Amino acid sequence: MADTENRPSNFIRNIIDADLASGKYETTHTRFPPEPNGFLHIGHAKSIVLNFGIAQDYNGKCNLRFDDTNPEKEDINYVNAIKEDVNWLGFKWDGDICYSSNYFDQLFGYAEELINKGLAYVDFSSQEQIREMRGTLKAPGTNSPYRDTSPEENLAHFHAMRDGKFKEGECCLRAKIDMSSSFMCMRDPVIYRVRFAHHHQTGDKWCIYPMYDFTHCISDAIENITHSLCTLEFQDNRRLYDWVLDNISIESRPHQYEFSRLNLEYTMMSKRKLNALVVDNHVSGWDDPRMPTIAGLRRRGYTPASIREFCKRIGVTKVDNTVEMGMLEACVREDLNEHAPRAMAVIDPIKLVIENLPDDHIEWLDAPNHPNKEEMGSRKVPFTKEIYIEREDFRESANKKYKRLVIDKEVRLRNAYFVKAVRFDQDDQGNVTTVYCEYDPTTLGKLPADGRKAKGVIHWVSASHGVEAEIRDYDRLFTVANPAAAEEFTDVLNPDSLVIRKGVIEPSLVDAEPQQGYQFERLGYYCFDGSKNEDGLMIFNKTVGLRDSWAKEENK
Ligand code: ATP
Ligand code: MG
Repeated sequence: MADTENRPSNFIRNIIDADLASGKYETTHTRFPPEPNGFLHIGHAKSIVLNFGIAQDYNGKCNLRFDDTNPEKEDINYVNAIKEDVNWLGFKWDGDICYSSNYFDQLFGYAEELINKGLAYVDFSSQEQIREMRGTLKAPGTNSPYRDTSPEENLAHFHAMRDGKFKEGECCLRAKIDMSSSFMCMRDPVIYRVRFAHHHQTGDKWCIYPMYDFTHCISDAIENITHSLCTLEFQDNRRLYDWVLDNISIESRPHQYEFSRLNLEYTMMSKRKLNALVVDNHVSGWDDPRMPTIAGLRRRGYTPASIREFCKRIGVTKVDNTVEMGMLEACVREDLNEHAPRAMAVIDPIKLVIENLPDDHIEWLDAPNHPNKEEMGSRKVPFTKEIYIEREDFRESANKKYKRLVIDKEVRLRNAYFVKAVRFDQDDQGNVTTVYCEYDPTTLGKLPADGRKAKGVIHWVSASHGVEAEIRDYDRLFTVANPAAAEEFTDVLNPDSLVIRKGVIEPSLVDAEPQQGYQFERLGYYCFDGSKNEDGLMIFNKTVGLRDSWAKEENK
């Protein structure tokens, strides 16, 4: 149970506090209602953390309900992926999973009730005609010629719809509300349409499917939801939500509240657009580490705690805004800085030969897994005559600002000894190939007795014991902050969003678990992808840099 001190505060929780205080409700019952037409993204995480977080903090319940009224767009694979993601984020739904399709029989009954009350009618106008009759924001709509059909006739038509007697688009059931309402959604909205589609839950039982606005409020009421939380685009639809519940015989009375969607810079939140990225092979799948999906973030090395923390920091308001990517990254960086074991890897290697070591020297040195968390233990790293260091960690000569290896100067090898560079080899192009040095055997874990100082500390990996690995670095997927606004979002894809390199990792990383994050010292946070490349090399994904790269700070 979350402690009261750390509870977030927002306008929705204020409403809940007031409802509990006044006795309107005794407890809270929320729901997270995804449509299984794609993978969940970070925007959904905001809704998940809000709904499940309320259940945790108020000792309430939260359902996972699949809002599955669009069988053509939905898929059982999405249902399964969504369940996995909610679980992974650390939340438990109350009881069994719910499906709106579980209520199709009841929904049908409520539609009959509306028909019997003269509040719904079967309209045989074409979709085009219905659109025209709806009017505009400035002009009221006009009544359909079918609006005053008798309840008996409507009921017979509605049953015929259910029995497959009409073709798709031939007719639909509409609520009879107000064609001159200033809310377009109240101008006799369609509440059932004919679709001869196989449904992942109900199979071929139905050839008519209820619309979202009719289904959602009734599903909420059937499940005894107290506070039905959705995003701002449904603000107007609240009238319809209330109208349906006010006009059918159902006891429970949920209320809808709207909050603003999460938008993140340099990415998109629409499942439809994300699906297009997948289908057109711009990414490797819904779980591509560049995707803003929960599955993508997981593969990228994000932790559930970091995503929950992010959702807490962005808060819940009614103000539309776009959050900087740096904020999401800060959350995972802070979490990994605290919890990720340290390791050494060299991504652009040059060889360093320690000339005063015997050829077969192997010394297993202790390397702490975390600089200030002894409880995280240590591992052994092999120190050998030939090791790799980063190409950029050596220069023939350099000024004082360069805190790395220079000829005739000393650096400390991380977790090991002082070394002093003495000479180096170059290839025909002048690229350094090998650096030769001498180490000071008195400097393991201590400073030299004469008080000499090293220029800096550099990381390294044994050349004989290190293991080759594929290193994948990621950049923003799009080149513009708001790709959704681009005419063609494929025009603004970043061609360099994935950079693949080969590196060398310390041997202990061979046992890395998929998605376990490591700080590759001085390089950034990386996790094992769980897969190997075509050459059998382990793939490591960069989660995030050590510093905010968006602030363009030089990685020192
Ligand atoms: P998309 O536009 O990405 O397809 P959606 O709203 O159609 O999103 P649903 O599966 O219907 O996706 O959403 C399930 C729940 O998650 C809804 O309550 C919805 O309001 C919420 N949600 C979806 N996107 C966001 C977002 N960007 N920020 C906050 N909540 C969101
Ligand atoms: Mg939707």
